[in-house]
Amino acid sequence: MSISTRVDLALLGIRGATPVSRTAGAGPSDDGHVRIDGLGAAIPRNPLSPYVLEEGRVLFDGNDIGLDVQAVDRPKFYDLSTADGVAYEKIAKLHGTSVLATTVVQTCIRYDADQRCRFCSIEASLDAGDTIAVKTPAQLAEVAEAAVRLDGVTQMVMTTGTSAAKDRGARHLARCVRAIKAVVPELPIQVQCEPPGDLQTIQDLYDAGAESIGIHVESLDDDVRRRWMPGKASVSMDEYRAAWKEAVRVFGRNQVSTYILVGLGEDPDELVSGAAELIEMGVYPFVVPFRPLAGTLAVDVDRATAPAADVLESVTDMYGVVEGNDLAGLSGSAITVVQPEFIVQPCTGTAELNAYRALRRETFVAEQGLFAGTDHDDVDDDPRCVVLVATDRDGTVLGGVRLAPCTATDLGWWAGSRLVVTTSARTSGVGPALVRAACAHAESRGVLRFDATVQKRNETLFTRLGWIRRGDVEVANTPHVAMYWPIDRIERLVSSTKAMLAGVLAPLKAQPLGLGAKGFRGDDGVPVPGSDMIAACDAIIPSMVDRDPEWAGWCAALVNLNDLSAMGAYAVGMLDSVGAPTQSRLTRIIRGLANASAAWQVPVLGGHTQAGVPSSLSVTALGRTANPVRAGGGSVGDRLTLTADVEGGWRRGYQGQQWDSTSRRNSAELTTMASFVARTAPKAAKDVSMAGLAGTTGMLAEASGTGAVLDISSIPKPDSASMGEWITCFPGFAMITADRPGAPTAPSGPALSAECGELTDIPGVALRWPDGITTRAVTSTVTGLGEA
Ligand code: SF4
Repeated sequence: MSISTRVDLALLGIRGATPVSRTAGAGPSDDGHVRIDGLGAAIPRNPLSPYVLEEGRVLFDGNDIGLDVQAVDRPKFYDLSTADGVAYEKIAKLHGTSVLATTVVQTCIRYDADQRCRFCSIEASLDAGDTIAVKTPAQLAEVAEAAVRLDGVTQMVMTTGTSAAKDRGARHLARCVRAIKAVVPELPIQVQCEPPGDLQTIQDLYDAGAESIGIHVESLDDDVRRRWMPGKASVSMDEYRAAWKEAVRVFGRNQVSTYILVGLGEDPDELVSGAAELIEMGVYPFVVPFRPLAGTLAVDVDRATAPAADVLESVTDMYGVVEGNDLAGLSGSAITVVQPEFIVQPCTGTAELNAYRALRRETFVAEQGLFAGTDHDDVDDDPRCVVLVATDRDGTVLGGVRLAPCTATDLGWWAGSRLVVTTSARTSGVGPALVRAACAHAESRGVLRFDATVQKRNETLFTRLGWIRRGDVEVANTPHVAMYWPIDRIERLVSSTKAMLAGVLAPLKAQPLGLGAKGFRGDDGVPVPGSDMIAACDAIIPSMVDRDPEWAGWCAALVNLNDLSAMGAYAVGMLDSVGAPTQSRLTRIIRGLANASAAWQVPVLGGHTQAGVPSSLSVTALGRTANPVRAGGGSVGDRLTLTADVEGGWRRGYQGQQWDSTSRRNSAELTTMASFVARTAPKAAKDVSMAGLAGTTGMLAEASGTGAVLDISSIPKPDSASMGEWITCFPGFAMITADRPGAPTAPSGPALSAECGELTDIPGVALRWPDGITTRAVTSTVTGLGEA
C-alpha cells in the first residue's frame, strides 16, 4: 500500500460496518478495527469517507483499490457479565483482532473544560453508560481470563484517566496488572499513564508484571501542549524526559512508547527530529494523525479539522527515513507477543474437576499419606465451593485449588485449600499463579477475610506472595501454618474518600468556629451558632449527575436529610444549587429533587439554578433540635448499633456501590426512619455515607477519640449483597449509633436495628469474626481531623 493511500485511509477513514470499534475515550479515538492485508489496523469510522468497506474489499469511487480488508468479529467475551451484573464489554474492549484494552479509571482530574485535552472524550463513554467509572483489579482479572480463553486475546493495554494523587493513577494500574497476571500470567500487558510524581512507581508497574509502558506526551512543542492540553501541560517536558529515561532503564529499550500527534500546529521538522531523539533514547514514538472526534472540545468548540494530507504525507516520509518504519500513519504495537504456557480459570467441566480431584488423591493420599483412602470432605460438597484449575495449551490440568465460605451464612470469610500441582509443573510457576488467582477471585466475590492452612514447607512460598502467618497448627498429624491474605478493600475506600480531609480543610479549621464548634467537628451537620438550627451540605459527583439526573436529584436530598437525622434534627427545608448544560438535564435533576422533597415532606425553600454550564448539584438542608447528637459523643465500652433499611436492591448502574431502598418507601416509612436517632437519643451517631459502614464507624470512633470493633455476624445485611459490598457501599438509609450497654433503641419503622460491636481503646476499626479472631479493616484514623 502506498504512503498516500495509507494517509488517505488514516485521515478520511472508511464507510461500512465495523463490529469492533472504539467510540470515545482518553486521547484521540473513534476507530473501526479491521485487518488490512492480514495486519490489524484502527481506521476512523467516517460516514462521509470516499472509501467504502464492502465484502472484504475497499472501494474508491466504486473501484476496488486492491486491499484485502476484513472487519474484526464481535468477540465472545462481550456476551458475559460479572457475578455482580457488569457486562464484560463495559470493563474492557477488544482492539484490533487480539488486543484487550481498558481504561481502569474513566475519569480525569483534568477534565474541567479549561484544563481538558481538547481531543479527549474520556468521560463521554461513562456518561453514555457504556462503561463504569472504576474497574477493580478483580473485575479486570475476570475479563482478561475470559478474553484469553474464549477469543484468543494475546496482549492487553491498560490506560487510566489522571488522578489527583501523586502517582497520577499509576498505583491503581499496578494493582490491576498484578491481579490480571495472577490469572493469566503469560498475557503481555502494556500500561499507559502520565509521568508519575514518584519515579519509583515505574518500577512498581514493572514489578507488578507489566511488560511495556506508554507515557504519552502527544506533542513535544510546549506552545502546542499549552494550547491543546492546558492541564496536562503543567507536567513539564523535563518530567516526561525523566520518566521516559527511568522507564527505559526499568522496562528496556523500545518497551517504552509515546504518542505524537500530527496536525496540532507543530513544526513538522521539529516533530521528526524530536521523534528521532526519542528513538535514540530507546523510546518508541507512535506518530499518528490528529483525528477530529465529535463530543470533544477540539470539534465542538474549536471546529478543528484533520491535518492536511500533504503535511501528514511529508511527516510520514521523513519519519519513515528516520526509523525505517512503514507503519507511520496507522498505529502498530510495541508489545512482544508471547503465547501463554498455561492459564488459570474457574473449573467449569466435569472432566477438569475429576482431573483436579485425581491429582489431589495422587498427591495427598498416595504420595504424602496425609489422608487415608480419600481427601474428599464437606467443602467439596458445598455448592458455593469454587475450584480454579491451571491448564496447559492442550487443556491438560496442571494443578488446582479450591476456595469456599467458612460459615453456613456467607459472612465474607473464605478459605482456600487443597492447592495441588502436577510433579512436572512444580517449578513452572503454576503454584504461585493458582494462589494469586485464588486471592483475586476471593476479592472479586467481596470476601473480607481469606485464610489458608498450608504445609510448613510451603510457608515461604505464601509469605513471598504476600500472605501473613497467623500461627502454627497441626493437620493430619503434620505441622501446618495458619495464614491469611491481607485484604485492604476497606482501607482503600477510606483513603480514597476521606483521608485527605484533614490537610485540605486545615485552613478552615484555623479560623474561630471554623468547621463548627468544639465537640461537633467531623459531624454530618453543624449547629448554626446562636440558634437551635442544624445545617448540612452535600454535593453529588458531576458524572453521576450526568448519567442519572433524577437519581442524583433524589440522592442530593437523601444524603442531606440523613445528615440531619444523624444529628437528631427534624428537617425544615432545603436549598439547592444546580447547574447543567441543557434545560432537559436541569429538568430531570429538579424532578428527582422534587420527588424527594415530596416523599420526605421537606420543601426546597430556594437556591440557584443555572443552564449552559457543566453539571453540578449540591443541597444544603436545615433542621432543628434542642439536643443535637454528636458523632464524637461516644466513649470506650459503648455498644455500637446499626440501624439499616436492608430491603430494596442495587441501583441500576451502581451495582455493589449504591443500595436503593428509599425510592421504594412511602412518606410515613421515610419520616419514621428519619426521626429514629432523635427518638433514640444515643450518645453518638453518624449516618453511613460514601466511606461505607466500616469507614463511617471509623469516623465516629475518631471523633469520639476511640477505636471500634464490628461483629461481622451481627451486622444486618441484605441477602443479595456480599458482606464486602455491604460494608463498603452507600446503603441508602443506615445509621451507626453508640450508647451505653443496655440503653434502649427506638422503633425504626422498616429498618432493622442490631447491636454489632463496641467502641474500644485501639484506634481504627477491627472486624471480629465468629471464631473470635479480629482483622484490621481501618488501621488508624479515617479523616485525620481527630477528636471532635
Ligand atoms: S490527561 Fe488529557 S487525554 Fe488524558 S484523560 Fe485527562 S483530559 Fe484525557
